[in-house]
Amino acid sequence: MNKPTPPSSHKSALSRRAARTLATGWFVLQTLIAAPMVATQPVLAQAEGDEETKITYGQLLEKLDQGDVQRVELDNLRGVANVRIKGDDDNAPLHQVTLFANDVYNQRLLQKLRSSDVEYEVLERSDNSALTGLAVNALLALIVVFALLMILRRSANSASGAMNFGRSRARFQMEAKTGVMFDDVAGIEEAKEELQEVVIFLKNPEKFTAIGARIPKGVLLVGQPGTGKTLLAKAIAGEAGVPFFSISGSEFVEMFVGVGASRVRDLFKKAKENSPCIVFIDEIDAVGRQRGAGIGGGNDEREQTLNQLLTEMDGFEGNSGIIVIAATNRPDVLDAALLRPGRFDRQITVDLPGYKGRLGILDVHARDKKIADDVNLDAIARRTPGFSGAQLANLLNEAAILTARRRKDAVTMAEIDDAIDRLTIGLTLTPLLDSKKKRLIAYHEVGHALVSTMLKHSDPLAKVTIIPRSGGVGGFASYLPKEDRVDDGLISYAELIDRITMALGGRAAEEIVFGSDEVTQGAANDIQQVTNIARQMITRFGMSELGSFAMESPSSAVFLGRSDLMQRSEYSEEMAAKIDQRVREIAMTAYIKARSILKTNRSLLDRLVDRLVEKETIDGEEFRGIVSEYVDLPTPNQ
Ligand code: ADP
Ligand code: ZN
Repeated sequence: MNKPTPPSSHKSALSRRAARTLATGWFVLQTLIAAPMVATQPVLAQAEGDEETKITYGQLLEKLDQGDVQRVELDNLRGVANVRIKGDDDNAPLHQVTLFANDVYNQRLLQKLRSSDVEYEVLERSDNSALTGLAVNALLALIVVFALLMILRRSANSASGAMNFGRSRARFQMEAKTGVMFDDVAGIEEAKEELQEVVIFLKNPEKFTAIGARIPKGVLLVGQPGTGKTLLAKAIAGEAGVPFFSISGSEFVEMFVGVGASRVRDLFKKAKENSPCIVFIDEIDAVGRQRGAGIGGGNDEREQTLNQLLTEMDGFEGNSGIIVIAATNRPDVLDAALLRPGRFDRQITVDLPGYKGRLGILDVHARDKKIADDVNLDAIARRTPGFSGAQLANLLNEAAILTARRRKDAVTMAEIDDAIDRLTIGLTLTPLLDSKKKRLIAYHEVGHALVSTMLKHSDPLAKVTIIPRSGGVGGFASYLPKEDRVDDGLISYAELIDRITMALGGRAAEEIVFGSDEVTQGAANDIQQVTNIARQMITRFGMSELGSFAMESPSSAVFLGRSDLMQRSEYSEEMAAKIDQRVREIAMTAYIKARSILKTNRSLLDRLVDRLVEKETIDGEEFRGIVSEYVDLPTPNQ
C-alpha cells in the first residue's frame, strides 16, 4: 500500500480551517431519533384525573411538616401542585393537590417549601389561547402605531423638507468611551498586532503626518460571526480613547430610495464633528455588494448608499482622524470600488481561535466569574475546537447560569461539561423509561464507545449517555481530543480509518443484537460523517491509489463565498465512479471491522449496555475500567 500523504494543513489558513472542521465534526457522535413523545411531556400528565392519587392541601402541609415530601411541582396555570412523597416508587404517578385561588395560601406554601429544603419547581407553561389573544392585540396595536407614524412622517416632511428624513431616524450608535481594551480581546494576536499602529495614529497623528506617512482610512476585518471583529474595533477606540460610531450595513438598506444615503451622510457628519474617532460598519456586504450584480438585479437604494459611502470616504483626508473599520464574512462579494487604495485597502483576517487563542479567550471571560479551583481552562480549550470567541463567552455564561440554578457558589467542571453538551448537542430531556427503544439506543451508543476504546488511533472516550436531548438526539458518545495535537489538524490515515470504524460501531451493534431488520435510521448522521471523511480522504488528501493530487477544494470554506459556489468538480465521470467505488470499499472494510470487534466481545457489550441502561451516563474512566476487566486496552501510540 502506498504511504498516504497527510494533508499539509499547517500551510494555509484554508486547509487548516477544513481540518479543524473535520476534527470538530468528529468530536461527538450523536444519534438522531424522532423526538419521543414521552420525553417531551411533563411528568404531571400521568397524574391527571386519577382520584386515588389526590391529596388535600391540608394533608400536603402536614406531610411537609413531617418531612415526608420529596419533590413538589407547582403548576400555576392549572392551579395544582404535583407532589412526590418519600418512598414512592419512581414510576408511580405524582399526587395531585388542588391549590387555592387565593394567592396568600400559595405564597405560604412557597415559603414553607423554601424553608423546608424540599426540592420544588414552578412549572412555566404558556396557555395557547391567551397567547393568541395577546398576539392579535399586539398586531392591532402595531397597525395603529404604524399608521400614526406614517401620518407624522408626512407632516414632518412637508414642514422641514425631505432632507432631514434620514437624520430624524438616524440609527447609528455612538459610544464616547467603549471601555474595551486590547486586554479584553484574546486569541487573535495577528489582527491585534496589525491594528496597533491605528491606535498609535489616533493618539498622535503628528508622528505620522510629519514624515508624510499615509494612514489607511479604511480597514476591512474579515471573519466568521463571533470571532470578535466588533470587539476588536471597540478595543481600538478604547485604547486610543476616541469615540466609537457604529452602524450595521443591513440598517442602511431601507425601503425608500435615498434614506440609506442620507444616513451615511449623517453618520460621517457626526464623525467629523467628533474626530478623531472610529466608524464601525458591521455587515458591510449588505450595502457593499457588487453593483448591478446578483439576484434581483440592481438595487437603486443600495447603489446610492454605496456611492454615498465611497464619496464620504474619498471626501476626508487621510489625516482627518476618522478611521472606518468594516466587518464582513463575505469579502468576495464586495464591490471592487470599496477595496481600492484610499478606501478599504487594508484587509485583516480574523480567524476562529486555535487552542491557545481559546485558552486566552476563556481566561478573559473567566476573570469576572467565580470559578472553582478544580476547573482547568486548559482542558476546556482542548475540548472546544471550532468554537468562536462568542461561543466560548457564551459557554462560560451558560455554566455560570447553571451554577446559580444549582445554588453553588462557584462554577465547577460539572457545570462546564453540561454547558458544553448543551451548546453542542442540545438541552437534556427526561430519560426514557426502560423499553426496547432505550436498549436499542444504548446498544448503538455503546457500540460507538466500545469500538473506539478498542481502536489504537481513536480519541479517548469522554462519556457515553442515553439521556435524550432536544433536536431529536437519543444519546451520544463524546471524546476528548488527544493532548498533543489539538489544533494542528494533522490527522493520519490510520486515525481517519479508526474514526470511520467507530462511527459505524453504532449501526454494527444494532445489527448484531437486533438483526438487520431492526436497524434504525438513528445511524443516518453517522453514515453521513463516514461518507464525508472517506470522500475527503480520496478527493482532497490523496489517500488512495487514485493518486496524491487534490481533486476538490475544501467545501468547508463556503463562507468565503462566491468562488466556492461556482466550484466545479475537477474530474471526469469515470473518476467520479471510481471515487464512489473507493468510498464504498473504505466504509465496508471499516464496518466489517467494527462488527467483528463487537461480535468477539459480545458479553462485554451486553454488560456495558446493562450498566448504561441503569445509570444513563457512563464516563470515560468507568467505561475503560469495565472494558479492561475483559480485554487489554490498546496502548495509544503517541
Ligand atoms: P463579531 O463582531 O466578529 O461577530 P463580536 O465582537 O460581536 O463578534 O463578539 C461577540 C462577543 O464574543 C464579544 O462581545 C466577546 O464577549 C466575545 N468574544 C468574541 N471574540 C472574542 C475574543 N477574541 N476575545 C474575547 N472575547 C471575544
Ligand atoms: Zn451513532
